[in-house]
Amino acid sequence: MKCDVLIVGAGFSGCVAAQRLAEKGLNVLIVEKRNHIGGQCSDKLDENGVMVQTYGPHIFHTKFEDVSEYLNRFTKFNDYKHKVIAKHKDKLYPVPINLTTFNKFYNLNLDGEGMKEFFEDKREKIDIIKNSRDVILSRIGTELYDAFIKYYTKKQWDCYPEDLDKEVLERIPVRFDEDDYYFSNELQGIPINGFSEMFKKIIASPNIQIKLNTDYKDVINKIDYSKLICTAPIDEFFDFKFGKLKYRALKFILETKDKELFQENSVVNYPGPDVPYTRITEFKHFLNQKTDKTTIMKEIPTWEGVPAYPIPQKETKELFKKYQELAENTKDTYFLGRLGRYKYINMDVACKEALELADEILETI
Ligand SMILES: Cc1cc2nc3c(=O)[nH]c(=O)nc-3n(C[C@H](O)[C@H](O)[C@H](O)COP(=O)(O)OP(=O)(O)OC[C@H]3O[C@@H](n4cnc5c(N)ncnc54)[C@H](O)[C@@H]3O)c2cc1C
Repeated sequence: MKCDVLIVGAGFSGCVAAQRLAEKGLNVLIVEKRNHIGGQCSDKLDENGVMVQTYGPHIFHTKFEDVSEYLNRFTKFNDYKHKVIAKHKDKLYPVPINLTTFNKFYNLNLDGEGMKEFFEDKREKIDIIKNSRDVILSRIGTELYDAFIKYYTKKQWDCYPEDLDKEVLERIPVRFDEDDYYFSNELQGIPINGFSEMFKKIIASPNIQIKLNTDYKDVINKIDYSKLICTAPIDEFFDFKFGKLKYRALKFILETKDKELFQENSVVNYPGPDVPYTRITEFKHFLNQKTDKTTIMKEIPTWEGVPAYPIPQKETKELFKKYQELAENTKDTYFLGRLGRYKYINMDVACKEALELADEILETI
């Protein structure tokens, strides 16, 4: 087999890089070990007629207009705007924590200024913020932390916030108004025919060939290529030379409910230690589908299964650096995406970085 560029992985990163290279006239071969395209973002209609996202709920959102324009060449997005509700002791609260969460939790009726003053009293005065626990306690004190953050984090990461880099929970805002949208990005939505249909269109070029059900390790020696883009795990590429990079994985439990609606919102978080799952997604909300039955998904974080989240800790970052140095010295080979670069990235960043890498490669050819 012969191609200009061999791409490992048909996820967001691999498909977008392939499209850009193919549109500029290069021949691209994508090798994907799964039996479908779209990687973690793939979706399909299930027996209830509900569009289910196989690897957990995905909502497109971005502040990058160029990324939005690019993707709009392949799909229309609906106007879904994501909200998340958390269930604590049988009551529902918006998250991230905002003025509504605060007033409902403390049974108050304050405005934003009042909320700020309240937390000035409640928050812990910590001089040097060393970890994610310090971040939250120094903002809102222990009560909301215990209710919404502490055990959710333990379930998600298998450690408490004091063992996580401060950057992890720094990303989560506390809002002093009633804004209950989950993302602050303006451009948001779900592809109207689903993500998998979008990926089909992205790679629909005669210059792109795809081989599914194929692990690249089994075929790489039989392929004649000039450049390689690897969106598979970087440590696996180098045969785990320095050891394995850790990932938190997810177990998904799908259930059919014989009713039109199971919950009032697409995603309900369960931040308490009483149940093993972190959230329940009811997919039909995303595309506003009308069906007699509904499909829900419970997510249970584990250490086994398809890698989901790189571990945001010092040791893993240091290990990744060793692989990165090796990668920089490997000729004509580029690493891309959440597994290739060992970092959590949203879809818009995956898209942006794939376009940038493709352009960089095009300049060298
Ligand atoms: C639970 C969850 C929810 C998320 N929700 C959102 C969200 O709401 N919004 C958002 O913007 N982002 C979200 N993301 C992030 C999103 O999933 C990523 O941005 C996206 O998956 C990155 O695409 P990728 O191509 O880099 O990786 P992947 O989708 O993982 O693609 C990598 C591909 O490489 C293939 N591969 C691996 N090893 C081999 C091999 N040996 N041989 C051949 N192929 C191989 C894999 O099968 C896979 O198809 C979420 C992530 C998770 C885990």
